[in-house]
Amino acid sequence: MSPEQSTIPVPRLQLRQPFVISGVSIDAGERHLVDLPVSRLSNHTPVSIPVHVLHGARPGPSMFITAAIHGDELNGVEIIRRVLRLLSPGNLSGTLMCAPIVNAYGFIGRSRYLPDRRDLNRSFPGSAGGSLAGRIANLLLTEVVQRSQIGIDLHTAAIHRVNLPQIRCEYLKYPRLKQLSEAFGAPVVVDSPERQGSLRKAAREKGVDVLVYEGGEGLRFDDFAIEAGVNGIAGVMLEMGMLELPDGVEAAPRAAAAGPVFANASRWVRAPEGGIFRTSKRIGAAVNEGEVIGHIANPYEDVDVPVVAPRRGIIIGRTTLPIVNLGDALFHIAWSAEREAKVVPDSGKVVEAAEPIMDEDEIL
Ligand SMILES: [Zn+2]
Repeated sequence: MSPEQSTIPVPRLQLRQPFVISGVSIDAGERHLVDLPVSRLSNHTPVSIPVHVLHGARPGPSMFITAAIHGDELNGVEIIRRVLRLLSPGNLSGTLMCAPIVNAYGFIGRSRYLPDRRDLNRSFPGSAGGSLAGRIANLLLTEVVQRSQIGIDLHTAAIHRVNLPQIRCEYLKYPRLKQLSEAFGAPVVVDSPERQGSLRKAAREKGVDVLVYEGGEGLRFDDFAIEAGVNGIAGVMLEMGMLELPDGVEAAPRAAAAGPVFANASRWVRAPEGGIFRTSKRIGAAVNEGEVIGHIANPYEDVDVPVVAPRRGIIIGRTTLPIVNLGDALFHIAWSAEREAKVVPDSGKVVEAAEPIMDEDEIL
């Protein structure tokens, strides 16, 4: 062998182990739709959690994406459909597992909940011998979540509410989550505690980082929120090294070109009166303390009660129903408490307490 020949690297076939899930073996560079069996409906129709598995040709991180854990939250189902159209396992580094409809019962029944009215996102980690919700939670956790390094859980506001596209995570506690939130590029990132029983909390206990994405409204498609979700997932996959842009292609400019607004406090503005509610304020709008942001009219007398913003912030969610009762949640306003703390100390002003922001909006 000549000296030149000895310096030439010998090409070796990189063999990546197959990915095995629920008894199905998926070779590197392949894609498979795997059913995780759950049970049967009362009419004996089988129910499962179908999971698209893309086992990349090259090694890399494992990631999951889940949607419709609340069965009436549909944007995530469409987000996953569009993401999968963009991906090929041949160009993927790592493994991606996507479960577009986790709560099949709620999805069929157009309901947030399971048939026994349990909330699946309060039922983690669950157990193999528990309630239906606990069993579904446990199945998802063991087969999908804990085999990932990172996950994105897709939600929307409850019905008759709409959310500005936003990420919820504990970015103050976990710098990695802040970095991933920036890669996602939603307009707002809200620091929110990991709630007991949620997927996010159960994943944390298994050492898995989860971003909760909120955008749009229950039982509706919202193209703005869907697009933001698709772009956000692509941004996170690029950040994780699971995808590479082809040579000469630059990342598309993000909707939030200046980066997301980070907020660590929020509060709901409630109806000061029952009646007919109207507003011209949209999600994403900035509001000032004392600003009139809507009116509640009395349909029988010429009376208009103003709805006033209690503080400066950004509207991250609002009701979409014009009929309201006293105390109904109208606007969800978020702000950065650190920034405000620098302004307020000597003012003597009593700052109203923020409310905890949970994994997703329930009936607040
Ligand atoms: Zn939800």
